[in-house]
Amino acid sequence: MTPAVDAAAVIARLREADVRSGGRREAWGAPWAAERERLVEHARALVPGVEIERDAFANLWFVVPGRRAETLLLASHVDCVPGGGWLDGILGVHAGLGVLAALTTDGPGERTIAVADWADEEGTRFGRSLLGSSMATGQATRAEIDGLGAAAVLAEHGVVLDRLGERSPRLAHVAAALELHIEQGPILERAGRACAAVSGCLGVRRLAFALTGAAGHAGATPMADRRDPVRAAAEAIAAIGDAGEGLDGYATVGRVEAEPAIPTAIAQRCAFTVDLRHPERDRLVALERAAADAADAAAERHGCGVERRLLWEIDPIAFDSTLVERAVRATGGGAPVVSGPLHDSAALARAGIPAAMVFAPSIGGISHTRAEDTAETDLAEAIATFARLAGELAVSP
Ligand SMILES: [Zn+2]
Repeated sequence: MTPAVDAAAVIARLREADVRSGGRREAWGAPWAAERERLVEHARALVPGVEIERDAFANLWFVVPGRRAETLLLASHVDCVPGGGWLDGILGVHAGLGVLAALTTDGPGERTIAVADWADEEGTRFGRSLLGSSMATGQATRAEIDGLGAAAVLAEHGVVLDRLGERSPRLAHVAAALELHIEQGPILERAGRACAAVSGCLGVRRLAFALTGAAGHAGATPMADRRDPVRAAAEAIAAIGDAGEGLDGYATVGRVEAEPAIPTAIAQRCAFTVDLRHPERDRLVALERAAADAADAAAERHGCGVERRLLWEIDPIAFDSTLVERAVRATGGGAPVVSGPLHDSAALARAGIPAAMVFAPSIGGISHTRAEDTAETDLAEAIATFARLAGELAVSP
């Protein structure tokens, strides 16, 4: 049966939370902690009999046990980037509580239903994204937390450091995990869709290149004698962009630095970063090879050397195919989209927990700023669709 989620009330609570916190819900900060306290009060008032718990990894859980321990999890994150918007993350938590209330109006159902607020999705303070969900799934270890210099702050917020590497017991019976989130890109808006199923997250290869040549005077060194690393880098960067287009992926050079960076001198060295993304692993690897080949070829043409270093990599993450299929049907049958940004659901999927997401559109594809927005009609439809999908999964696998 379709639960009657009060989407207007969910939207109103999101607006109130934004007025209170003003886009300052960075994890481990005071406005974030205060907003989570409000969430606890709100859940108590909205969902009679809800069990509220903070796990050993600072994640908040709101649980209504069903006749079976088998659990449907609806989870996202309250935290945001500094100066963030009113929807990134917190939408999925408030929508989750709204759906939890709707599904348990007549008392406990078949499956246990849980809503979770993962601590620190954005990684603003310690540079580690998906922190709460990674700790809950045992993927963030004590050594990693120590390496980030995060241990003392996490302990202050109730993280039991000795238990890092273990799984949150609340995850033991999760049979399906759903997350409602804004797209943060332009695809849904362009397609005129109020929501869409998400089939997974793009894989990433992030590299640092440095081309080394020979410094010289801009007016005295003949063009034919030059070993100019900036000119070589320019050719490499253009070819890397072409490779991104040609392989239907994403290729971004976000930072370029010449040394010594003097207008009247040929540089000695030119360093640049390359961020490559693709939904398919094979093509991501091909894109990485194309980027390396482009740098090598350009360097050779200009008599330069090449240094290459891998900064970070993650393979593409596919969500659970059965859940994605159900989300596709719930959202009206349109093709699922692949998320460019990573999400907590990716941490769950990597840990073997069946997960899927539903996206609502972002106006202008804008997020991580105060200008982030979604039309209320689209939000209401996305929340209602999410509730319908959750309603199905609350009673049957
Ligand atoms: Zn988010």
